[in-house]
Amino acid sequence: MSAGHCAEKDRLLLEYRQAADQYAVAVAELSRRIGISSLDDYLKLHQAAESARIRSNEARDRLARHLAAHGCDISKAS
Ligand SMILES: [Zn+2]
Repeated sequence: MSAGHCAEKDRLLLEYRQAADQYAVAVAELSRRIGISSLDDYLKLHQAAESARIRSNEARDRLARHLAAHGCDISKAS
């Protein structure tokens, strides 16, 4: 096991990547549907993309706070 390994960081990073992926999928779906969906459908997709964006931001913040508090951000090492 490498030095600086942190299971909590791994968990938070995975959570962030999944949330960011979901946001990317929601945005792709939204742009694909522009012009072909009804306004109601479009607004629902827009809402879904917006909440995915917020979840992704929150996950990123949790990760950043953990890295700062725990000092386990090995990606900064060069
Ligand atoms: Zn950590």
